[in-house]
Amino acid sequence: MQLKNLILGALAPTLALGLGTTLLTPEVSIGYSTIGGSLSHTQRDFRIYNNFTDAAANNNQTPDAQFPGYQGAVMAIWKGTVEWGSELHGDGTGDPHQPTGLGSGGANFDASFQGEATGTGGTNNNIHSELSGSSAGVLAYTETPISDGWRIRYYSDWNWQDGPGTSVGGGSNIDLQSVACHEYGHALGLGHSTSGPATMAAFIQSGVNARSIESDDSNGVKAVYGTKSGSKPRITGVAISGNQITVTGSNFDATGNQVWFTQASAGGNGQPIKVTNLTSNGTSITATIPGNAGPGDIQVRSNGTAHSDLSNAWPTDLNGTGGPTCGITQLGVGTGGANIGTLDSSDNPQLGTTINVVATGFNGSSSGILIIGLSPATVPLLGGTIFLDYTNPAATLGINLTLGVGAAPISLPASPGLAYVSGYAQVGTQDASQPQGWAFSNGLQITFCP
Ligand SMILES: [Zn+2]
Repeated sequence: MQLKNLILGALAPTLALGLGTTLLTPEVSIGYSTIGGSLSHTQRDFRIYNNFTDAAANNNQTPDAQFPGYQGAVMAIWKGTVEWGSELHGDGTGDPHQPTGLGSGGANFDASFQGEATGTGGTNNNIHSELSGSSAGVLAYTETPISDGWRIRYYSDWNWQDGPGTSVGGGSNIDLQSVACHEYGHALGLGHSTSGPATMAAFIQSGVNARSIESDDSNGVKAVYGTKSGSKPRITGVAISGNQITVTGSNFDATGNQVWFTQASAGGNGQPIKVTNLTSNGTSITATIPGNAGPGDIQVRSNGTAHSDLSNAWPTDLNGTGGPTCGITQLGVGTGGANIGTLDSSDNPQLGTTINVVATGFNGSSSGILIIGLSPATVPLLGGTIFLDYTNPAATLGINLTLGVGAAPISLPASPGLAYVSGYAQVGTQDASQPQGWAFSNGLQITFCP
């Protein structure tokens, strides 16, 4: 058996040096070790800064329903992490090397996938990224894997492979999912194991075996977080209808539950998108999907902060099943009257940009007001419907505009900084033919794309 490639670095990169040519004798005794500390609920997040330079690190572009919204290196690292989860991740599929499924930890531990980061972050920001260069036989290392967070770096001189097959090429070709699984073991509080087959052994064989944690690794994560409790909240399914998500499972508390979502767009601080103070009958929770939540995993946190109060991670595709989508949608048809017009836009609403809207067809009127706001409403007004909550302090009322052929488009303000957050717009004009002297256009819902 050929052992190769030190992947150390549990404490600091300098500790990883100088051992690259040592071969370990496989042992069968208990081998795991712990490094002290554990990750509280506030540190369960992980993100990937996808700066991997090898084409092979991002050449798996086949979507997988159990890892919605992401491919390539991000998906590979996500898979490597969920192997430590308390139970199967969703239906457990996604890795042909593990026919019994992904998710073998059996402890009160589950991580929170938070999508992509936009930089390498600091040593406690819980981000995976590539690092330029090499260091003897070191593949990767984990910095400061203690209770206030960690950072994982992968040396660029190796040829990183994102799978998802069961073999990688020889030589310097390295399976990213395997190494991510090992390094995340450090992040959650494990040192190296003296058990040869363990994923947490200081050396891994070339190939994909380290993707699957062994009984020694499972015993290690149980030693840190406790064996999975019978009272741990558990997700067994989700259903989405419009902007509502219903989570089914067991051990949800009567009050004070939280549903955690993956952030929709890259960046952020790693903290999950949370809906809080949710009630439950014990087996079902319904929540409104936040506008800044995207495809990824959801988790339920019951009314507490112990390791056993956070559920397994359940893959949920908010983009593919009726969740938030981006674009511009016309709402309604406006009020009647000779001056009724249309408000529209041909722009693609990108995050952080302004949107031009055009009002046409207001025959007989030369001016009106543009109403914009952040909250939709269905308010009976003047015989029609206004789509703005004009009682909302965030709404801006009464932007004067010029109507008619050739009138310049109106620029709406830049989006408020979050993908999938909607803005709403509607035009009103004075119209003596209407009962109270005003007519209103259709509304526009403008949802910004990441
Ligand atoms: Zn290591």
